[in-house]
Amino acid sequence: MKTKLKVTVSHERCMGSTTCVFLASDSFILTNENKAEFIGQNNSLDAIKEAAENCPVNAIRVEIE
Ligand code: SF4
Repeated sequence: MKTKLKVTVSHERCMGSTTCVFLASDSFILTNENKAEFIGQNNSLDAIKEAAENCPVNAIRVEIE
């Protein structure tokens, strides 16, 4: 069974580095305002966690639901 995640991106913190988009490209997009948005759990748990861990401003929060 797939672990269900609740992922939030702080737009206050996000500075558009695109790291998360690069590491989990099916789960994060960059908006026109250069802010990342979580669009769905379309990558593996590990990839999404890696994206969160590598965000330079710690803007991504991952919780297991
Ligand atoms: S890695 Fe962090 S700062 Fe970079 S785009 Fe994603 S949320 Fe924004």
